[in-house]
Amino acid sequence: MDTDTGWLADNWAQIRRRVDEACRDAGRDPAEVSILPVSKTFGPAVIRAGVALGMRRFGENKVQEIRDKSPSLADCGIDWVMIGHLQTNKAKDIAQLASEVQSLDRMELAEALDRRLQHEGRAIDVLVQVKTSPEPGKHGLPPEQLPGFLKALRRHDTLRVGGLMTLAIQSSELSAVRACFRLLRELRTEAVAQGHDLPRLSMGMSGDFPLAIAEGASEVRIGTAIFGKRPQRDS
Ligand SMILES: *Cc1c(COP(=O)(O)O)cnc(C)c1O
Repeated sequence: MDTDTGWLADNWAQIRRRVDEACRDAGRDPAEVSILPVSKTFGPAVIRAGVALGMRRFGENKVQEIRDKSPSLADCGIDWVMIGHLQTNKAKDIAQLASEVQSLDRMELAEALDRRLQHEGRAIDVLVQVKTSPEPGKHGLPPEQLPGFLKALRRHDTLRVGGLMTLAIQSSELSAVRACFRLLRELRTEAVAQGHDLPRLSMGMSGDFPLAIAEGASEVRIGTAIFGKRPQRDS
């Protein structure tokens, strides 16, 4: 490779240090928190450079981007993780291309994914995305529907439910952001008491991950702090 990717190595090392530091501040073992690199809007060359640094899972928020990027990266053994809002009519592509969906937020989508996965003879990891902030336009399952949803998901054995995911409110008030993360943790505690096994909490992004780690994140989804500012606006 002739492009200089030293900047990426620096960013990758730095975010790992910052995550470790947030873990220590929270009295947690850094080994408990993993980083999901979010590569949306970045092309195959940068992703390939990430693979060379040891990244293996990549988060994307549009099915079309996974479709566009995956063929030229087929030799890299990448696990594509869908983290964005997913239309039901894209279930087929996801069943073929993704190893995980973190944005499962409604029964209609679960049923479509299960049908397509049965057809492919595959199972994938899923997280249930919960709407923890009152902001309009945010996707996610309303918290009060979580118990029934988790119960209904047991019917679909192509969907391996491993935990919960959320996006916090966009706010400069740290207490409001932290309250979203805390709610997700509490919902998990309730679900575990009802007999569900949900070890994973995917929460926290470049701007708010220390708060998410303080509230128990097992995984933070990091785009900007690894790959830099995104070239265009994304939803
Ligand atoms: C883009 C995105 C991220 C990463 O955001 P950054 O602020 O760039 O770290 C995390 N989660 C989701 C769902 C996203 O769409």
